Amino acid sequence: MYPQPFEYVRPESVGHALELLAQHGADARPLAGGQSLLPLMKQRLATPRVVVDIGRLEDLARVEDDGSLRIGSLVTHAAIEARDWPAPLALLYDGASVIGDVQVRNLGTMGGALAHADPVGDWGPVLQALDASVRIGSARGEREVPVAELFTDAFSTVLGPDELITAIDVPAQDAAATGAYVKLARRVGDAGVATVAVQVRWAGDGTCASAAVAVGAAASVPFRASEAEAFLAGRTLDEAAAGEAARLVQAALTPFSDVRGSAEYRRDMVAVALTRALGIASRRHAGERVEAGYG
Ligand SMILES: Cc1cc2nc3c(=O)[nH]c(=O)nc-3n(C[C@H](O)[C@H](O)[C@H](O)COP(=O)(O)OP(=O)(O)OC[C@H]3O[C@@H](n4cnc5c(N)ncnc54)[C@H](O)[C@@H]3O)c2cc1C
Repeated sequence: MYPQPFEYVRPESVGHALELLAQHGADARPLAGGQSLLPLMKQRLATPRVVVDIGRLEDLARVEDDGSLRIGSLVTHAAIEARDWPAPLALLYDGASVIGDVQVRNLGTMGGALAHADPVGDWGPVLQALDASVRIGSARGEREVPVAELFTDAFSTVLGPDELITAIDVPAQDAAATGAYVKLARRVGDAGVATVAVQVRWAGDGTCASAAVAVGAAASVPFRASEAEAFLAGRTLDEAAAGEAARLVQAALTPFSDVRGSAEYRRDMVAVALTRALGIASRRHAGERVEAGYG
């Protein structure tokens, strides 16, 4: 199908883009990599009157790294995948490497994926486990929202129609932290049926000082499993601890069913993904080079 006719505007600067969004409000939609917006427009599930193409705004396409990390919203999944991340940021590689296929990763952007808010999106859980936040700009000013508070429901966020995600801020991680993102999917390139991101801060004696556990693809929004996190703090991450943490994650979950898997299957797979993610984080802590990916 063809999209409904629309006006196409390519702003010269971020300020110009924000002016256009303020001017056109809900009639306008920003276009980044187009990997989600264009299919929606072709199916007429999105019918913007004005498309504001921010895709060539270089100010939004940089990664700044001075201890903490600022990832411009237009940085592509492929650019994240290609970067040589230090061990505490391996989650970023894990997340980028399992998104769609090469073509999607080459064009799709981190900011676009977050704004799209697909419950099966991979960046939500990864960035929540890293305690990341998004910088949001509008003609009215700038605000910062933790990724954990960005999603309000499936395909819904706190973003207003005149707002742009300009960057994603990832705070400095503990130098000895390790994590893993495990995506269980029917096949490579498909959306997940359950995904779990963990980031573990280790104590000197090899126990878990604290752990972030974020769950995706199983509920309408990705979420931090705070009961499991509290349970894991101070423990040795053995099979028994992983099993109890998995039980706590399952108890906090309201899973959905879709063509990829039933709610019951998702509940089971979340436990598998968590156990594998904790195992990979432990092996990485021991210095092993382990791929996380599809688990
Ligand atoms: C075949 C296929 C497979 C995929 N598989 C996966 C997968 O496995 N995992 C996964 O996570 N994703 C997957 N995706 C989605 C992919 O990650 C997209 O890149 C992403 O959803 C949208 O990013 P984009 O830059 O293309 O945004 P666009 O399509 O340009 O925009 C998406 C939405 O975000 C809005 N938007 C864009 N940028 C901004 C901004 N900076 N601020 C505010 N609003 C903005 C747009 O108006 C639109 O509503 C897949 C997509 C396809 C087509």
